[in-house]
Amino acid sequence: MDLKGKVIVVTGAGRGLGLSMSQAFAAKGAKLALVDLDEAALADAAKLCQQAGGEARCYRANVADESEVVQLYTDVVNDFGRLDGTVNNAGITRDGLLVKVKDGKVVKKMELKEWQSVIDVDLTGVFLCAREAAVKMIELGKPGLIINISSISRAGNIGQTNYSAAKAGVAAMTVTWAKELARYNIRVVAIAPGFANTPMVAGMKSEILEKVKSGIPLRRLAEADEIALTSVFLFENDYCTGRVIEVDGGLRL
Ligand code: NAP
Repeated sequence: MDLKGKVIVVTGAGRGLGLSMSQAFAAKGAKLALVDLDEAALADAAKLCQQAGGEARCYRANVADESEVVQLYTDVVNDFGRLDGTVNNAGITRDGLLVKVKDGKVVKKMELKEWQSVIDVDLTGVFLCAREAAVKMIELGKPGLIINISSISRAGNIGQTNYSAAKAGVAAMTVTWAKELARYNIRVVAIAPGFANTPMVAGMKSEILEKVKSGIPLRRLAEADEIALTSVFLFENDYCTGRVIEVDGGLRL
């Protein structure tokens, strides 16, 4: 798919990977529907996309809220008159051990709200956005692409019960939807980044981050624009569907 003039929704577009992917699509002449909770960040992101050469509109929506997501995709189609792609990127972490033990005693459990908040955004949010995008793409009758952002943590990572479960679910949904939606000319793919240089990772303790880096064969974090490059490739290569593309510097958890 040639990105010029195409309309793409990017969730979590206010910063990090979402912002970088939006700028990369804009540089190819795409029209962006930028989605985030942070309206100030969205306004800045829209300026950056315009500077990169694309159009951009801002939509404040919570991807975990069904009625907001339904309204979002309706608004995007009303505003732009088409929908060619959605990048279901918004995500959060609430890390912690399942059970924390000190001196032989259980001192903390992962709370249900820590589990649920990550499942709500990282799994249900992807489900809702993909579902609504698919509805609109089928109604519009044109080819479409759904990119979901999974993670290297989908293999299972210490301290990330909630996040690993969500990201494994995202990978499984990607394969399922690729099979279900191919007949409507909709491709579905996922990107599983390793550790990338974004505000999400900047929140990690520096000693843990150094340990992580030392285990990466390329010995560094990914830059956000390296993940963005993969998302552009997935738009441009019409034979990619049903796969999770790993961009992780060679790291295996
Ligand atoms: P980030 O810097 O934390 O950015 C995430 C963005 O998503 C923020 O702008 C945030 O907005 C927005 N967001 C959070 N919850 C939302 C919601 N309910 N509705 C709408 N927007 C919401 O994260 P990132 O590092 O760019 O990560 C992007 C995606 O890549 C995530 O799915 C993440 O799990 C995945 N990933 C990242 C890495 C990495 O190393 N960075 C690795 C693997 C996978 P607010 O600021 O308003 O909360």
